[in-house]
Amino acid sequence: MTAKTMEELVALCKRRGFIFQSNDIYGGLQGLYDYGPLGVELKNNLKKSWWNSMVYERDDIEGLDASILTNPMVLKQSGHEDTFSDPMVDCRDCNSRWRADHLTEGQCLSCKSKNLTEPRPFNLMFKTSVGPVDDGSSFAYLRPETAQQIFINFKNVLDSTPHHLPFGIAQIGKAFRNEITPRNFIFRVREFEQMELEFFVEEGSDEKWHKIWTDLRMTWWLEQGISEENLELLTVPPNDLAHYSKATIDIMYKFPHGLEELEGIANRTDFDLGSHTKGQESFDIQAKVSKNNHSNSKLAVQDINTKKWKIPYVIEPSAGVDRGVLALLNEAYKIETLDNGKERTVLSFKPHLAPIKAAVIPLKRNNEQLVAAATSLKSSLQKKQLGRIIVENSGNIGKSYRRHDEIGTPLCITIDFDSLENNTATIRDRDTMEQKRVLIEEIPQYVADHINNN
Ligand code: ATP
Repeated sequence: MTAKTMEELVALCKRRGFIFQSNDIYGGLQGLYDYGPLGVELKNNLKKSWWNSMVYERDDIEGLDASILTNPMVLKQSGHEDTFSDPMVDCRDCNSRWRADHLTEGQCLSCKSKNLTEPRPFNLMFKTSVGPVDDGSSFAYLRPETAQQIFINFKNVLDSTPHHLPFGIAQIGKAFRNEITPRNFIFRVREFEQMELEFFVEEGSDEKWHKIWTDLRMTWWLEQGISEENLELLTVPPNDLAHYSKATIDIMYKFPHGLEELEGIANRTDFDLGSHTKGQESFDIQAKVSKNNHSNSKLAVQDINTKKWKIPYVIEPSAGVDRGVLALLNEAYKIETLDNGKERTVLSFKPHLAPIKAAVIPLKRNNEQLVAAATSLKSSLQKKQLGRIIVENSGNIGKSYRRHDEIGTPLCITIDFDSLENNTATIRDRDTMEQKRVLIEEIPQYVADHINNN
């Protein structure tokens, strides 16, 4: 069973320290959330898994970490200044504002009035002033997608690495959108993170690569523990395509509030690299490139045979980290009825994503010898670099097991008085609840195998 309601997930996230309302003590700030001690681990593990699959497991993708503040010219040339907007309507009766395409019944979601203004475009980009004088003369945008910084670094990366087409640049980072109506917890927020790959290919092979990346991305989400029946592919209809896209396939997930986009895989053609190239004074790619082929303005590659310069096509899988975290939480959340009729709440994360990999629990709180043995085991475990391992000096094993089920810790290791005699400890498996005794010196490898192989 997945989560019954978003409210249940929100409550669990707050109670256990995954996600908090941002700026809460001052009344909050709409559309922003903070990730607490467990949330930051879950989020980092998801990003690490993406980075592994994109950058480390392949030889044709490089990483990038570019600036958030963006020169307005970049977003002028990319088309975002003119077209990155949502249709907004005002309710004349209660003065609330809505995204027109969210009002499926044609009425205000707050007071149900149909007395609405005509939709008008509302640009979603945040602006901020740059430098000491705030007179509007020098401003930057907070990037609305990480992608543009990848495009404008295309030549830098190409010239500093040994790649030819096809190759990609991957980036994980914050993006900002002044959403008209942020809602559904971390699903639609104003500050979020994206995991974006721009994969540069020859024109003509773009449709083939679009299909390849759609398959790869679906497989990756399945490997993160998202179940197949909660995922769907949606071919975005032509009239809904973003201004840069020739074709987009969305990976849709059954969130607690409905079926919505988790990731978009767009065929951006040569639109972006072409726009930034044209953005320079005179656009004659062949002439310009041959005059000064080191300029960053020519985001092009030279054909080995014909020596002609050409602008690559781009396939972009773009996933939201926050939407990913919400999907993982929803997927992992279960309330099980045990044989004794009692219920337990469990988050059955895949071990590589679990915020805490293992909890070492001394049977008796503050018992010097037990705590020392637990601390020593924790440091041997930590050396395996699996992620967070904790010593839980609670003295209440039953309570600790319940807490760790509820936050998704795959293994609990109990150090008892026998451990001091025979150097074994009890390992309890979150999913099966089975317990077995293992030699303490073998536990680090046991835990590593469990985390890495499941
Ligand atoms: P939507 O139609 O839901 O507004 P979009 O099509 O504008 O999304 P993209 O521009 O394709 O989204 O962005 C790529 C990914 O970034 C999305 O699939 C989503 O996971 C994430 N994303 C976009 N906007 C937000 C947001 N406001 N809050 C959280 N994640 C977002």
